[in-house]
This record gives sequence, structure tokens and C-alpha cells, in this order.
Amino acid sequence: MSQRQLILGAVVLLLGSWGFLPEFTVTMLNYVGLYALVAVGLVMLTGIGGMTSFGQAAFVGLGAYATAWFCTDPGAAAWLGLAPGSAWLPWEGLLAGLVLSATLAWMLGSVTVRLSGHYLPLGTIAWGLSLYFLFGNLDFLGGHTGMAGLPALTLGSLTLKSVRELGLLTWTVLLLTVWALHNLLDSREGRAIRALKSGRVMAESMGVDTAHYRIKVFVLAALLASLSGWLYAHLQRFVNPTPFNLNVGIEYLFMAVVGGAGHLWGAVLGAALITLMKQYLQDILPSLLGASGNFEVVVFGLLMLLVLQHFPDGLWPSLVLRTSRLLKARSVAHEPGLRRLAERKLPSRGSAVLCASGVTRRFGGLLANAKVNLEIHAGELHALIGPNGAGKSTFFNLISGVDEPDAGVVTLLGKDMVGQPARAFARSGLSRTFQHVRLLATRSVIDNVALGAHQRGASGWIASMLRLDRAEEACLREEAGRQISRCGLEAQVHRPAGSLPLGQQRLVEIARALCGQPCILLLDEPAAGLRHQEKLALASLLKQLSQEGLAILLVEHDMEFVMNIADCITVMEFGKVIAQGSPTQVQANPLVLEAYLGGADWELRP
Ligand code: ADP
Ligand code: MG
Repeated sequence: MSQRQLILGAVVLLLGSWGFLPEFTVTMLNYVGLYALVAVGLVMLTGIGGMTSFGQAAFVGLGAYATAWFCTDPGAAAWLGLAPGSAWLPWEGLLAGLVLSATLAWMLGSVTVRLSGHYLPLGTIAWGLSLYFLFGNLDFLGGHTGMAGLPALTLGSLTLKSVRELGLLTWTVLLLTVWALHNLLDSREGRAIRALKSGRVMAESMGVDTAHYRIKVFVLAALLASLSGWLYAHLQRFVNPTPFNLNVGIEYLFMAVVGGAGHLWGAVLGAALITLMKQYLQDILPSLLGASGNFEVVVFGLLMLLVLQHFPDGLWPSLVLRTSRLLKARSVAHEPGLRRLAERKLPSRGSAVLCASGVTRRFGGLLANAKVNLEIHAGELHALIGPNGAGKSTFFNLISGVDEPDAGVVTLLGKDMVGQPARAFARSGLSRTFQHVRLLATRSVIDNVALGAHQRGASGWIASMLRLDRAEEACLREEAGRQISRCGLEAQVHRPAGSLPLGQQRLVEIARALCGQPCILLLDEPAAGLRHQEKLALASLLKQLSQEGLAILLVEHDMEFVMNIADCITVMEFGKVIAQGSPTQVQANPLVLEAYLGGADWELRP
């Protein structure tokens, strides 16, 4: 049996037994479903997107209050042109809640999501608290007393009066959400979302507009919370501010983290565990301790500490690991790509691809790059060398959009690029690797490599959720597979990138860079950590690529490697270019020998 069949079986069992389960079980399951819906959003936001939010309960409140107001305020019904008590009011309330949540999330997200480190969670606490107090202080929302008399939901002629009926809707919504999000994560857009966690620089260099994606994930999580709030309000038929307090927001985060913050099913598991545990503790603690009080909160906190200590990645991954021996691994079958990916027209051999002129960058009083001029042509393998601190990495950043020069011009295929972000460089045909490897360690090699082709696809979130992107996805994976073979990594395709030796991780980065169909490739120390045989293979790959017309600029410390493959070498020292020419010319240049080796020439020779 595969994991998929097991999950399907559990779902069928749940739905099949729904009519026969005891009332109490159905009520508990209903709450699990409602909480899981919020927690699934948090998995997307926190576990996968890397943005911690304590404030999700406020969005649940927004969804609940929107429908409560629409359904109970006669003014609202009149404004909508509906009779008070109309069966349409809850649906208008749902729409209003979603629109309100999305708008607010977009606004709050634009401010908060930019924050980094601990400022982001602090920001979410701030607006979480503000919204909670707002609910309690607005008279038209019933103040701290709340609003009563919400109607039951109706679906056509069906009225969802009982917990059993509404629970069925809750679980249908939850399962459809998990399905859609699972599809989203298994797509081009999903790879971009996962890339957010590894920081701005890598994702932007792959062509991903990180600010845009972060806000979109934020809005998605808010929408799911709001949807849960709507269902909650029509289950309770009553709304007050208490369930939308900050401590509930913290509980949602607990659900996501305890279940396994990086896994959608982890959210469902976490929600089930915490809901059942709290209920159980509430029931047994008073009789155990012989006194009443909020002891369950204390015990709950201690249990959470224990769980997090023993399962830092959450319970779901451990569960999967333990059952993996019993379950068949899912074979990833992909249909052959029928469509073609967008292809760029490559510049003709010998024409200038990237020109840097007078590029200058200061860090305080330090001149890291002083009027650097460099031109790289199609089909040329250009090496940039120089002692440590010469300014090579700084120059790399300036010509790839990671950093901006204080003065000077950078043009890519004749286009002025100064002031453009890294993703604009990537879209114009510049691909790069990093001195300190930046891969998604837990994702497979092919997933990592396919991210490099991000900007060659076009499918959006909705298409990915509905699996309408399969033809394009097949093309992207096929392209990734091609580049993986080219870099000699066929045997590693499905292994997690982080499990490979460093030398091979560098090759994965090269394959990822090639997936973008670049016209210029920037490689920061690609041979570091490679064995002799691997270096030879890399050298022949780079030579082949340059023969195909690719412009390559590489920073490398291994002189034997550089002297053997470079067509042209630029030498930097103290931020300045001190020499430029063929390997033979550079090796004979006394300035270079002086700067690089303090006069001794043996190390420069291959
Ligand atoms: P290389 O890659 O050639 O070893 P770098 O470009 O990393 O050299 O660094 C050049 C000089 O600029 C060094 O003196 C380094 O300390 C300084 N430098 C680099 N980046 C920064 C930064 N972000 N802030 C301050 N100084 C920096
Ligand atoms: Mg460096």
C-alpha cells in the first residue's frame, strides 16, 4: 500500500462512518477540521514560506464577524437588497469576510512581510492584538458580549443545522484545501514558495519576485483562516471576541509546528492532537488533582515542550519515517512534455554579452571595487582571479543585481541594468551559482534544479492547484532532467540535495543555473570541494558550454583549473583590475606575480 492509498482509505473511512459516529466525536472532529484549516494556512506561511505568524486568530475573527454582521444586522441586509433572514446572507457574509481578509492581509502583509528576523513575528502579534481589541470595542459588533442569532447555513434546499451536517461541509472544505495546496506545492509555483525560506538572494536570482510571493502566501493563509471563521460562526451561531485572542493565535501555530510545520497533513495531525489533548486534560485533570482551575494550560505547555524537544520537525515526518518501511514509495511518473518551454534567442558568438564599465562600490571608507571594467563575450570562458578580499564577490554581486554599484554602468545584452533587481538579470539571461551553496537541502535534486527554470514557465497558482499545469510542469521537469544528466548527476536525481557531498551540490547549482537557458553564467568558485576527477569533468562541461556559445565568468582559486580552461583572465587586487589577458600573458605579468604571490611564480603555473 502506498501513502496515498492509506490517506485515501482514511478519508473514505471517515466519510463513510460519519453518519454513525457518536455526537461528541463528530463535534470534536468538526473542531479539528476548523482548526486544521487555519493550521494548514500556517504550514504554507510558516513551515514552507518561512514567515512566522502569531496573528492568524484575528483573520478567523474577521471571517466570523463579517458573516455575523451580515446575517444579524438589518441594515446590512437592506444594504445588500436582501430580506432580513434571507438564506443568501451567510454566503454574502462569506464573500465579505474573504474580501475583507484578503484586503487587510495584503495591506498588513505589505508592511509586515518585509520585516526580517524576530520583527516579523512581533509585527503579527501587534496586529493580532489590535484586531482582537477592535472586535471587542466596536459597538455594532456587539462589543465584548458578541453577536447572537446567526442562522444555519443552507446549501440549496439543504439546511446544515446539526454539527453532523455542518461537519461534513467543514471536512469537505478541508480535504479539498489540502488537495489544492498539495497540488500547488508540487508545481513551479510551489518550488518558488519553498525557495522563499532560503532567503531573498537565491530566490530572486532564480527570477522569483520574493516580495510578491510572500504577500500572496500571506493572503492565502488569511483566506483559509477567514473561511474557518465563517464555518465556526455558523456552527456556534454566536460570535464574541474570545476565540480570536492572541493565545488562540499561538495555539494555531502550535498545531502547525507540533504536527510538522513543513507538511500539510502535519497541520491536520497537529490540530487533532491538540484539540483532543486539551479536551482530555480538561476532563481528567480536575478529578486527578481534586481541584478545578486552568491546570490543563500548564500541563499542555509542558507536553508541548516535550514534544518539540523530541520531534523538532513535528510529528508527521516521524510518523512518515516509521511507516515508510510498511508503505510503498510513490513512484513519480511524469508524462513526457508535449509543449516547448520558452526559449531565448542566444547572442551570436563573440558578441558582447555583459559589459561593466567604471563599476565602483564603497563600504564605508573601503573601496571594494574601484572603476572596474570588464567585458564578457558569447562563447568566452572568462576567469576572475585575485587574492582574498580583492573584491571579486562584490563585483559578482554588482553584475548580477544582488547589490548596486555606487557608480558605473552594467549592461546585459546592451540593456542598462543598474538599479534592476536580481530577478530582472535572471530574466534577461544571467544565471549564477553561489560561493556558499544555496540549495533547498531537504528537496530532491530535480526539485532544486527545476527551480532554475522558474521564469520559463507561466502557470499561476490557480492553474497549479487545479492541476492544469501538468503539460508545462512535465516540460520543466524534462528540462531539469536534461541539465542534471549534462552535469553527470543522473544517479542523484531523487536524492535530497542536502545529502550530497559539497562538490556535487555545486554541480546541482550549475544544473539549476543552466535550466534558466542563460546566455551568461556566473560561477563563484565552482571547483571548490571537487575531487580531481570531478574537476576534470567540470572543466570539460564548462568548455563544452562555452563552445556552444555561452559566456562564462568564473571566480576560482584553483590556478591549475583556471589556467587550463580560461580563454581570458582578469586579475583584481584591492578592488582594482591590475591585469587582463590570456593565461600565458597573465602568468608572465610581473604585477600579477607581485600581487598574487609576493614575487614567487611557481603557484600560478598549472
Ligand atoms: P573577494 O571575493 O575577492 O575575496 P570581497 O568582494 O568579498 O572579496 O570583498 C572585498 C572587500 O570588501 C573586503 O575587504 C571585504 O571585507 C569588503 N566587503 C565585502 N562585502 C562587504 C559588505 N557587505 N560590507 C562591508 N564590507 C564588505
Ligand atoms: Mg569571494
